[in-house]
Amino acid sequence: MEIVDLRSDTVTKPTAAMRQAMFEAEVGDDGYGEDPTVQELEKLAAQMTGKEAGLFVTSGTQGNQLAVMVHAGKCSEVICEATAHMFGSETGGMAALTGAQPYPVIAPDGKLTPELIEPAIRKKKMNVPSTSLIAVENTHNSAGGVYYTPPELAAIKEVATQYALPVHMDGARIFNAAVAQNIPVADLARYADSMQMCLSKGLCAPVGSVLVGSADFIRQARRYRRLLGGGMRQVGIIAAAGIVALKTMVSRLSEDHAHARLLGEAVAATKLNTDLAKVQTNIVMADVSPLGMQAAQFVEILREHNIRASEYGKYKVRMVTHHDVSADQIQYAIKVLKKIAG
Ligand SMILES: *Cc1c(COP(=O)(O)O)cnc(C)c1O
Repeated sequence: MEIVDLRSDTVTKPTAAMRQAMFEAEVGDDGYGEDPTVQELEKLAAQMTGKEAGLFVTSGTQGNQLAVMVHAGKCSEVICEATAHMFGSETGGMAALTGAQPYPVIAPDGKLTPELIEPAIRKKKMNVPSTSLIAVENTHNSAGGVYYTPPELAAIKEVATQYALPVHMDGARIFNAAVAQNIPVADLARYADSMQMCLSKGLCAPVGSVLVGSADFIRQARRYRRLLGGGMRQVGIIAAAGIVALKTMVSRLSEDHAHARLLGEAVAATKLNTDLAKVQTNIVMADVSPLGMQAAQFVEILREHNIRASEYGKYKVRMVTHHDVSADQIQYAIKVLKKIAG
């Protein structure tokens, strides 16, 4: 029986159109700035987000860490949410690579607000770290794929401007945020000085992210990318898939959101707990504690039914919908959930 893989949208495989584009990609040495396909991708990403420039990077982690390297530095502090990917899932990169320390702020729904941010901004004093950056995650992964709205981001940008601080957006799933709100991605990106977006998640490209921002920001990030070993050569081969991703894979994310909605409603009808208000994009979080079991056990039972899901803490299970999960597979998963948790 086929596997229904709900662990992550990163498991999506490149589409036939992507493989064809990769096969045909015009390439050159990107170290010399001579790969036309990479340039096309970077330009397209900048255009779509309303930024001056883009930089093709190896991963979302690299994009986020480059942003911290440019915006923040030794003896400074980055305000982020306590369950943010940049804080908890990037191998302590902030401290290791930049000498900046994170200032994690707890937000119940993963979303920072001016009320949460302002008290975290340090007074300028000789003996305290200087606040250098505000980082937001849109959509927020561990909060269950919730998105920031433009007004929410505008309010954050306003505080940031008041204190002359840049805002970086971890937009790993920014297109999910845009599609769910039926707005262009630029309407979200405009409130961030820099943003990274993953091509390799719901958009199905095999590898890579694009970091966008001002031309000057990207110039500095390009230097640091080289430092991290992310300077690549005939990398148009993979950038070609990224172009197909940005041009053709964005609007279909609404199917993933509809599937997550169905799955979320099914979970809510079982003994499991889920907060349907947080099922806004392609992620469903389920608390399995009412079954008297832990997430690991539940994931194992799902596995026995050929369904894969991720453990997210002791009692929380994450299910992510994506291109490679069909409507039939969602119906099958719903049937199994009813059977094992109904
Ligand atoms: C996936 C993800 C990233 C980047 O992940 P990579 O595996 O390094 O591409 C960054 N932030 C969030 C919120 C993510 O979900």
